[in-house]
Amino acid sequence: MKKVYFIEARFQEDPSVLSEKARRLFKAGGFARCFRPNDLTAVKVHIGEDGNTTYIKAPCLKGLIEELKALKTKPFLTDTSTLYTGRRHNAVDHCTLAVEHGFCYQVLGAPFIPPDGLLGTAETSVRINGVLNKEVYIAYDIVRCQSIMAVAHTTGHLATGLGAVIKTLGMGCASRKGKMRQHAALKPHVKAEKCVACQECIRYCPESAIVLRSGKAFIKQDLCVGCAECVAVCRFEAVEYDWKQESSKLQQAMAEHALGAVMGKQDRLACFNFVISVTKDCDCFDTPDMPRIVQDIGILASDDPVAIDKAALDLIQDKTGEKIGKLILNQSLDPMIQLEHAARIGLGELEYELVTID
Ligand code: SF4
Ligand code: SF4
Repeated sequence: MKKVYFIEARFQEDPSVLSEKARRLFKAGGFARCFRPNDLTAVKVHIGEDGNTTYIKAPCLKGLIEELKALKTKPFLTDTSTLYTGRRHNAVDHCTLAVEHGFCYQVLGAPFIPPDGLLGTAETSVRINGVLNKEVYIAYDIVRCQSIMAVAHTTGHLATGLGAVIKTLGMGCASRKGKMRQHAALKPHVKAEKCVACQECIRYCPESAIVLRSGKAFIKQDLCVGCAECVAVCRFEAVEYDWKQESSKLQQAMAEHALGAVMGKQDRLACFNFVISVTKDCDCFDTPDMPRIVQDIGILASDDPVAIDKAALDLIQDKTGEKIGKLILNQSLDPMIQLEHAARIGLGELEYELVTID
């Protein structure tokens, strides 16, 4: 049974306190075993979209970076380009925002280096024994690095129910093509009776897949890559998915890309879940001060991406007495799909022992 280490924490605590708590977890779990001198170590982070205020702040990672440097690894902060338009859509904008949000050498002593090139197309195809995929498309430098520290901010998610370590590895380490493969299952449609033709979705769609037809938005399914941007920007709940069908395939594809991201280095991986400031949607939203769906819980650490996400989900559901689908106002979303699929394909184990650190 895998061990998941836990320490209580609150978002309001000073980042230096949160940094020391994460460091204590690193030491308690003996995660030094995952890293070796001269490793190029990818520290997978989410720098928060421009305007988002609920992401995990950069100085919270200082202790972890210092531990990696003490082990003589060469850590670099990293994240891939997004499918949707925004300030993380290409490497130049992403690096600029990373500096503005403190994910840079000056604050953390490690540079921010996007692993998928200028436009998110630098990739390596990785062979896996998945159910949906036999090869997945992973960011070039994620495959090239020797070890990974996956630092996730645990949140709800509008398409997968839960955004945590599996999502940070699966979606966050995939190239643009890998992301499109995962999102391909998601093809939204517009409910004409709810559409007020404001054209916001047309403005934001990265594929120009939406047009006005008979005075209502209409999605051309052959052009749509399923990025969900239109769902996010429509204020009239006019863009819909068949969540049960679509989310299930997306979650499974995401788990398979997570397996591809860590292929060959499953013993060179340390995972962290910050289960604080748990918002309904993920940090890709530019909404300031999104409402939380649960009171702050703490920080988790494990070398098993499945066990740590199962622990995060259990803690959220135990604390609220509700399924996460209910908390994010979409009861048809069940993140157990990604967890069970990840366990089935060998990414990790569902069973865990929670070890609480003072
Ligand atoms: S954003 Fe929503 S309401 Fe506006 S045009 Fe698109 S679907 Fe219609
Ligand atoms: S129509 Fe498709 S490609 Fe365009 S924003 Fe919506 S999900 Fe993305």
